[in-house]
Amino acid sequence: MDILTHALSGTAVATCAATYVGATPLRKAKIILIGTVGGAFPDIDAISMWSRFDSIFGRLFDLSHTGKVIYGSKFWYSHHAFFHSIIASILFGLLLVSSIFLFQKVFSKKQIVLPSLCKSHLIYLAVFILAAWAHLAGDLPTSSSVWGGIAMFWPSVDYVGGSGKIWWWNNYDIFLLIVGSIIINLTIPAIFKKVREKARLFTTTILSITLILILIQVNTRQFDYAYKGNTSKYAEMELNSKKEQQRILGKHLYRYMERFDGMLKFYF
Ligand SMILES: [Zn+2]
Repeated sequence: MDILTHALSGTAVATCAATYVGATPLRKAKIILIGTVGGAFPDIDAISMWSRFDSIFGRLFDLSHTGKVIYGSKFWYSHHAFFHSIIASILFGLLLVSSIFLFQKVFSKKQIVLPSLCKSHLIYLAVFILAAWAHLAGDLPTSSSVWGGIAMFWPSVDYVGGSGKIWWWNNYDIFLLIVGSIIINLTIPAIFKKVREKARLFTTTILSITLILILIQVNTRQFDYAYKGNTSKYAEMELNSKKEQQRILGKHLYRYMERFDGMLKFYF
């Protein structure tokens, strides 16, 4: 799935999680930011495709393979490997929260006590991890390709997912459902006091409905996007994914989404 939809899936998780703690607007903004970062985090392993990867990281770590080879291989630092695992989400979540703690300890004038800080920062850790898991869930229905899925249970060498129910990108319908849930969760409780009083129930319900709708969309694609290794049908599959969106969204909405897609500098 594309990086924007991944990041926003983390944002959606955060809009719900924020209602579970007594959050001030600033704290809520921090929770949402961490959720968005967590949603994008696993694709940090796509850095090997960066044009300067070989000259910087390749030289620094004395790597014997080029970034392009690393990307499509099954090294622990390849795409869909360690960084797409449950253990990486927990480790990097802990690293992030520890960094925030150290930063605050050095720069804050207030006395910071570790136990109270752990309690107040637990939400950041939880949101980061859950957002990264939303990313992993989003990658499961993409094709096996050269990896055979994602190494969700790393260090196990078994890759999971790779069903090819959806294409790598052009999943505008899923993107719109996620954006819709974010907008609803942020605005409705803010506008209506009655909803605000039951904000947890409301945001959890919206997130659950969104997940069900996404599952319906994923499982009702009319084209098959499954392939192993490389495929000569790549261009055809990509075209099919566009046709599929046109069918789902209708001509007008599809045209808007296509225009939006054209404005972005990455695959969407
Ligand atoms: Zn990914």
